[in-house]
Amino acid sequence: MKLPIAQLGQPVLRKVATEVTAQDFSTPEFQQLLRDMQETVESEKGAGLAAPQVFASQRVFFALTELSDEDDAPRHYEVFINPRIIAVSEQTKLGWEGCLSFAELLVLVRRHLAVRVEAFNEKGELRTIELDGFPARVIQHEFDHLDGILTIDRAASTRDIIKASELDSVLEEEETQSAS
Ligand code: ZN
Repeated sequence: MKLPIAQLGQPVLRKVATEVTAQDFSTPEFQQLLRDMQETVESEKGAGLAAPQVFASQRVFFALTELSDEDDAPRHYEVFINPRIIAVSEQTKLGWEGCLSFAELLVLVRRHLAVRVEAFNEKGELRTIELDGFPARVIQHEFDHLDGILTIDRAASTRDIIKASELDSVLEEEETQSAS
């Protein structure tokens, strides 16, 4: 079942989510939440989705871990349960990020280029995953959701918050400036 997405202003987006317990794993409710979250992120074509965004204050998110060159090719999402970011690259990069909880906006956010994450999968197996580039950015965005942090909190200036519809104008302006 596709779930409704909490929009900016919903208190659940600002809570620190709780750890998933061993007992939670085996409950039909939890397994259903995972299936519903997967269906929701796939149907929204999001880069990721965190449980607080579907009104479940638990430390779970889905994230795209593989990119496809073709737009309509199937995208590969992975689930991260009780994730821990155990290492990050020193190198960082600025990038425009959207969010399903306020899809009208884009925010310029600085993120580590690469991350190493430890998390449980849907079977309760602990895995370590290393990601860089866009998937690493997605992981950091989704991880923030578990701590009640949104991209707008990470903007260096309110000037780094724009309407998504105006991105092309911003990029054109950046190009003109770097060319001059
Ligand atoms: Zn988000």
